[in-house]
Amino acid sequence: MKISRRTLLEVGAIGALGLAYGGKKLSDTFMMGPPPTGGRIDTHHHFMPPEFVKTIGADRLAAVTPSKTLPEWSVEKALAMCDTYGISEATLSISPGYPALEAAIERPLMRVCNDIGATIRRDHPGKFGQFASIPMFDRAEALKEIEYAFDTLKADGIVVFTNYGGTYLGDPSFDEIWQELNRRKAVVFIHPTHPTYELKGQPPESVIEYPFETVRAATSLMFSGATRKFADIKFILSHAGGALPYLAARISGGAMFNPDVSKRVPDVMAEIRKFWFDLALSSNPAALSALLTVADHKRIVFGSDFPYAPDIGIRVNVAASDRYPMDDHVRADIGRGNALALLGRASA
Ligand SMILES: [Zn+2]
Repeated sequence: MKISRRTLLEVGAIGALGLAYGGKKLSDTFMMGPPPTGGRIDTHHHFMPPEFVKTIGADRLAAVTPSKTLPEWSVEKALAMCDTYGISEATLSISPGYPALEAAIERPLMRVCNDIGATIRRDHPGKFGQFASIPMFDRAEALKEIEYAFDTLKADGIVVFTNYGGTYLGDPSFDEIWQELNRRKAVVFIHPTHPTYELKGQPPESVIEYPFETVRAATSLMFSGATRKFADIKFILSHAGGALPYLAARISGGAMFNPDVSKRVPDVMAEIRKFWFDLALSSNPAALSALLTVADHKRIVFGSDFPYAPDIGIRVNVAASDRYPMDDHVRADIGRGNALALLGRASA
């Protein structure tokens, strides 16, 4: 049999991925365990309505992915993916893919996406949850959309991005929004987006910049005192907190030696443990062991990053967490139980 150069490259890439995900043999890389009883709950799951793709631009959305191709999305594809990976419920959210939107575009687009998400939920009862979007550039409109999302659409929470025009989430200009979400004891899913500075000769933003964006947003929320002031908000950090677990001690030291910050935040590690973390594309042993070292396992939830994560990425990631040595009850909590508690679902 003649083996093409492309096949060799693919096998090489999968082999490298397998090593990074702790597979001793290539077959280990794909070996998933059974999902927890009742199924996995996927809190990092995107939907891409045509209105969203058209407004942002397919090219812009494609540019952030490692393969620079726009993922294909439909409700049917989402349901098929859930079937394949034993996911009983997936929480819909839109993805970023743009550095900033003008308020005039952002406001109506968020409403359209929220209504489409609510329709998908209604058409497929029990299969989907929803993190609604709010126009963060316009604080007054954001407050109105929060009311609409929770009171009319009965959304499960809100999705926000790590920065808005270079302003990170701990900035006091967001306080009014956090105050309202705190009053509602809301779940707030923080998804990384582009940094606002120019990058030359670097991989697409999602590869390296996104994990650091998550660190910046989390640190901004902690150092500003927002995680203490708005302690009833349940913030979820994407991708195992990005680089946060690895940098936790360094960030904690940074706070300790800054009298201004240490006054507001006497214990950074305690603040880190207030966050929730999803495992989208981050179940490899290096990331998972770092996360389990700094986070409470009861605050770790499953995530797929569908449809941005290619199928092979989801499979390898699911297999890695299924294979990671942990007690059965911890695995069941991470796959399902913790998300049920977070989303306020009945545990049956
Ligand atoms: Zn994502």
